[in-house]
Amino acid sequence: MDFDYTPQEEAFRQQLRSWLAANPPEGYDPDTFEQLDEDARFDIQLQWQKQLYKAGWVGIHWPKEYGGRGATVIEQMIYQQEMARVRAPGLANFGGISLAGPTLMHWGTEEQKQRYIPKILSAEEIWCQGYSEPGAGSDVASLQTRAVEEGDYFVVNGQKVWTSYAHKADYCILLTRTDSHAPKHKGISYLLVDMRTPGITVRPLQQLTGDADFNEVFFEDVRVPKANLVGEKNQGWQVAVTTLMFERANFGITHQIEAYIRRLAEVAGRVQIDSHLATEDSVVRQKLAQFYIEAQAIKYNGLRQLTKQLRGGPPGPEGSIGKLAASELNLRVVHFATELLGPYSQLALGEERGIDEGYWSRRALSTRLFTIAAGTSEVMRNIIGDRVLELPKG
Ligand SMILES: Cc1cc2nc3c(=O)[nH]c(=O)nc-3n(C[C@H](O)[C@H](O)[C@H](O)COP(=O)(O)OP(=O)(O)OC[C@H]3O[C@@H](n4cnc5c(N)ncnc54)[C@H](O)[C@@H]3O)c2cc1C
Repeated sequence: MDFDYTPQEEAFRQQLRSWLAANPPEGYDPDTFEQLDEDARFDIQLQWQKQLYKAGWVGIHWPKEYGGRGATVIEQMIYQQEMARVRAPGLANFGGISLAGPTLMHWGTEEQKQRYIPKILSAEEIWCQGYSEPGAGSDVASLQTRAVEEGDYFVVNGQKVWTSYAHKADYCILLTRTDSHAPKHKGISYLLVDMRTPGITVRPLQQLTGDADFNEVFFEDVRVPKANLVGEKNQGWQVAVTTLMFERANFGITHQIEAYIRRLAEVAGRVQIDSHLATEDSVVRQKLAQFYIEAQAIKYNGLRQLTKQLRGGPPGPEGSIGKLAASELNLRVVHFATELLGPYSQLALGEERGIDEGYWSRRALSTRLFTIAAGTSEVMRNIIGDRVLELPKG
C-alpha cells in the first residue's frame, strides 16, 4: 500500500488549511464552547455552517450536481483531520446533512432534490427526524402516528418524542402509518413536513445537562401535500432504514472523538497522581494510547463506509459497527476522565476549581446519549449479529 498523499491531495489539504486559518469560526472558542447555553451554541454552529457553505466546504463528498465537491475518500479523511486539528465546531444542520439530504439523494424525486437539497447545505432550512414515539423507540416500526389521504394531502395525527432540534427545525422527516391492517413494516410512509404547518405543537424536554434540545412533537390534523411523500406510499420503511444507515455510519467517521481523547491527554499532562504527573504513570499512558488506537480503527472503518457511499450505495448495516464502537469508546473515555480527575470531575460548568472550568462534568452527563440516540448499543449488537455476521437465531 502507498500511504503517501498525492500532490493533488496535499494541495487539497493546503487549500483547506489556508482557508481555515483565514476564516476561523466566528465567535467560537473551543475551550469555552461547552459553557455556552444551547441557543448560543446552536447559533455558532449555524454561523459556522453558513461560513463553510459560502466557501464550498459543506457536504464535500456529495456529488457536484447537489452542491458537493465529489470529494474522494482521502480528501474526506484530510477534511476530518484538518477540522479536528482546529477543533472546529459541529454543523447546525445535522438532521439535514446526515439524514434528510443523503436519503433524498437516494429516494427523492427530481423535484424534491432540487427543492430541498441546496437549502440543507446552506443551513437555510434546518431539519429534524420524527421517528420515535412514546411506544416506539427501538421498535420504531410499531409507530402509531397516522396519515390519512384526503385529496392532494395526507392528514397527520399523532405524537413523536425525543425529536432533536424540532424547536429549531423548518422541516421534519416524518414516519407515519398509512395502512394499519398491513404487517407493521409494510404500512409506513415517509413524509417531508413543513414544521410551520398549522396543527404542529413542539414542547422541549429538559435533559440531565439542563439543556432542552430535544422535544415532544404533537400533530393534530396536520395537512401534508402528497408531493412530500418520499418513495412509495406504505413503503416508507425502506426509506427510513436508508436514513438510519446514514445516521449510524456518520457516527463512525466523526472527528469529535479524537478531539476528546486529545483533550484528555492534555489534561492528564496537568493533573497529578501520587505527586507525579498523570502522563508519567504507565497505566494512564497505556489507557490513552489504547483509546487513540481504537479511535483510529473507528475512523478507518468509517472511511470504508464512505467508500461504499461514494460508489453510489447507502452505507449498509455495517455502519452499526462504527456507531457502537464510537459511542461506547466515547463513554469509556469520559469514565476514565472521571476516575483520573477524582472529585474535581464533578464540579459543574463554570465552577472556579473545576478542571477545565467543569468541562468534564458536563461531558460525564452528556456522553451517555450517544449510546441511545440513533439506536441503542443493544440494538446495534442485534443488527451486527443478525445482518452483518448473519449469526443463527436462538
Ligand atoms: C439525545 C437523544 C436524541 C434523540 N433524537 C432523536 C430524534 O431526533 N428523532 C427520533 O426519532 N428519535 C430520537 N431519539 C430517540 C432514540 O432513537 C431512542 O431513544 C432509541 O431508539 C431507544 O428507544 P427508547 O428510548 O424508546 O428505548 P426502548 O426502545 O424502550 O429501549 C429500552 C431499553 O431496552 C433495550 N432494548 C429494546 N429493544 C431491544 C432488543 N430488541 N434487544 C435488546 N435490547 C433491547 C434498549 O437497548 C434499551 O436499553 C433520541 C434519543 C436521544 C437519547
